[in-house]
Amino acid sequence: MEGSTIRLLLFSGGLVFFLALELLAPYRESSVSKWKRWANNLTLTLVNSFLLQLIFSSAIIATAMYVQTHKMGILSMLEAPSGIKILVTVIFMDFMLYVWHLLNHIMPLLWRFHRVHHSDLNMDVSSTSRFHIGELAISTAIKICIIFFLGASYMGVLIFESAVLLCTQFHHSSLKVPKWFETLWWILFVPPSMHRIHHSVIIKERDTNYGAILSIWDRILGTLLINADQKKIRIGIGAYPKPDKLNFHHLLAMPFTKPVR
Ligand SMILES: [Zn+2]
Repeated sequence: MEGSTIRLLLFSGGLVFFLALELLAPYRESSVSKWKRWANNLTLTLVNSFLLQLIFSSAIIATAMYVQTHKMGILSMLEAPSGIKILVTVIFMDFMLYVWHLLNHIMPLLWRFHRVHHSDLNMDVSSTSRFHIGELAISTAIKICIIFFLGASYMGVLIFESAVLLCTQFHHSSLKVPKWFETLWWILFVPPSMHRIHHSVIIKERDTNYGAILSIWDRILGTLLINADQKKIRIGIGAYPKPDKLNFHHLLAMPFTKPVR
C-alpha cells in the first residue's frame, strides 16, 4: 500500500474513532453549536485532505523516497543501523515541528495563518485539521527542506507522519481521559489537557505547550505550562468571539484581514 493511502486511511479511521469516543464521553458541553463548527472544520478538512493527499503528502513521501535512494543529507553520511535512523528521523522531525509551531506564534506573518486554527471556539477532533491552506503549503515546503537536510529515513518519515496524525487527533479531542492516564502520558507525550491550555484565549497560556508528539521539547525549552485551571479555560481567540463571523469563507480570508493577537 502506498504511504499516502496509509495516511488517508489512518486519518479517516482516527477521525471517526475520536468523533465516536467524544460523543460517548465528552470532556465538556459545547458552548457553541457543534454542528456549525463541524460544518466549517469538516469542510476545511475535506479541502485540506484533498490537497494534502494529492499534493502535500505525496510530495513529502516522494521526497523521503528520493533522499533515501540518492543517499542525501546528514544521516546518509553516518554508518548506523536503520532502526537508529528511523528513530532519529521521528525525533528530529517532531522537534522541527515544535520549532515551526513556536514560530507560528511569534512571527506576525505566520500567526496570520495559524490563527485560523486557534479561532475555533471549542476544541475537538475536528479542530485537528482546521488549518489554512497557506499554512499547510508553507509547512510542507519547510518539511521537504528538512527531509533533504537530515537525509531522513523513508520509513522514519512514514512513521512520523502517521504518529503526528494520530497524536494530534488525540490531543485535540474533547475526551474525558482518566487522570492517571493523562499524568502518565504527560511525562513523554501531549495529552488533551496540555494542548487545551495551548488553545486558551489568554495569550500567555496560548504561547506555551507547542509540542505535537513529545512533550519533552516544551519541558527542556521552558515553554511547558501545567498549572492552568482546566475548567476555566475558554477556547479561541479573544478578537473572534462570534461563531457567525467564523464561517468557512471568513476562515479562508482570515490571514489577509487585520492583524489581531
Ligand atoms: Zn498553536
